[in-house]
Amino acid sequence: MKDLQGFKSLLERSKKVVIVTHFKPDADALGSSLGLAGYLKKKGLEPKVITPSDYPTFLHWMPGNDEVLALEKDNVEKEQEARRWVNDAEIIFCLDFSSLNRINSLGEMIRESNAKKVLIDHHLEPEHFADYEHWDPKAASTAGLIFDLIDKMADKSTIDEAIANCLYAGLLTDTGGFRHSNTRQTEFLIASELVGAGANPSWVSKKIYDTNTLARLKLIGYVLSQKLIVLPEYRTVYIMLAQDELKQFNTQTGDTEGLVNYGLSIEGIRLAVLMYDRKEEIKLSFRSLGTFPANEIARKYFEGGGHRNAAGGSSKQTLQETLNKFLAILPEYKAELNKDD
Ligand code: 5GP
Ligand code: MN
Repeated sequence: MKDLQGFKSLLERSKKVVIVTHFKPDADALGSSLGLAGYLKKKGLEPKVITPSDYPTFLHWMPGNDEVLALEKDNVEKEQEARRWVNDAEIIFCLDFSSLNRINSLGEMIRESNAKKVLIDHHLEPEHFADYEHWDPKAASTAGLIFDLIDKMADKSTIDEAIANCLYAGLLTDTGGFRHSNTRQTEFLIASELVGAGANPSWVSKKIYDTNTLARLKLIGYVLSQKLIVLPEYRTVYIMLAQDELKQFNTQTGDTEGLVNYGLSIEGIRLAVLMYDRKEEIKLSFRSLGTFPANEIARKYFEGGGHRNAAGGSSKQTLQETLNKFLAILPEYKAELNKDD
C-alpha cells in the first residue's frame, strides 16, 4: 500500500464498508473477506460482505458466514439489497480478483459508486480502478496480504481466533497446503503468526479437506477411473465432465474443486485441465508445473487468466467444441510442454 497514511485516515473517517470478492469464491476469497470484515468491525466500522454467487458448503463454518449477502442468478431482491449496500458504502474493498469484469453486475454497481475503492489482490495484471491498492503477485494468498496490511496498520493485536482461522484457511488453500511453488518463507511466517493468534491448523484442514459428501467421493472415484485422459506426447491430462455426469453424482458448488490436481499428480505430467459444463458456460481450470504458462492459454483462448501455474477461463461453445479447441492449440505448446524445469 503506497499511501498507508491516507488509507488509515480513510478508515478513521468512514463507517459503512462493502467487501466484495470474485464469482464462486474459494477459501482465499471468502477467508480474506471475512477476516477483513472481522478486523474492520474491531476498528468500529460496519462492513458487509457481498459475493457475486454462492460458494461451497465446506466454507460455511467461517465466522461471519451468516451475514454474507450471496447473490443468485435472477434473484432481483438480493441484487437490490446489494445495490443499496454499494450505494451507501463509503469504502468498497475488492478482494482476490483484479478486474471488475470478473464479478458480473456487481462490477457495474461498483464502477458507478462514489465510494473509495481499495484493491487487495495477488493476481497478475490488475485493472487499476482502485484509489488504494495493496497488490503483490508474489504473495501466495490474498489472506496473507490482509494479514500484512493489518500488521502494517500496527493492529496485529486485533487478530482473534475467528479472524485468524479465516485468514489461515486462505493461506492454506492458495498454497495447496503449503506445497505449491508460491510457498515462500513469508507464507510460513504468516501462518506462524496466525497460529499464534489462535488459528487451529488441524481444525481448519478438517473443515476444508475432510468434509466430503459420499456423492463427491464417488464423483472423484468416477473421474479417476473413467475420465482422466492422458496425452503423453504433450505431457497433458484432461478431464471433461458433461452436465448429465455432474447430475448423476448430485454435484454441488465446490465439488469439482481440486479434481484438476489429480491429473498433475501423475509423474511427468506438466499440464492438467478440467472442463465441465456449468450450464451457462463451460468452465475450465488449468494447472501446470514449472515455467509452463497455464494462464497464457486461459487468457489467449478461453477469456480467462490467473497465475502461471493455476489459471481458469470459460467458453460459450459446447463441451466437445471446447475440447476440440483445446486439443488444437496443444501442438503450438508441444516444445514447452516437453521442457524440463
Ligand atoms: P480455479 O481453477 O481454481 O477455478 O482457478 C484458479 C485460478 O485461475 C484462480 O485463482 C484465478 O486466478 C484464475 N481464474 C479462474 N477462472 C478465471 C476466469 O474466468 N478469469 C480469470 N481472469 N481468471 C480466472
Ligand atoms: Mn487467492
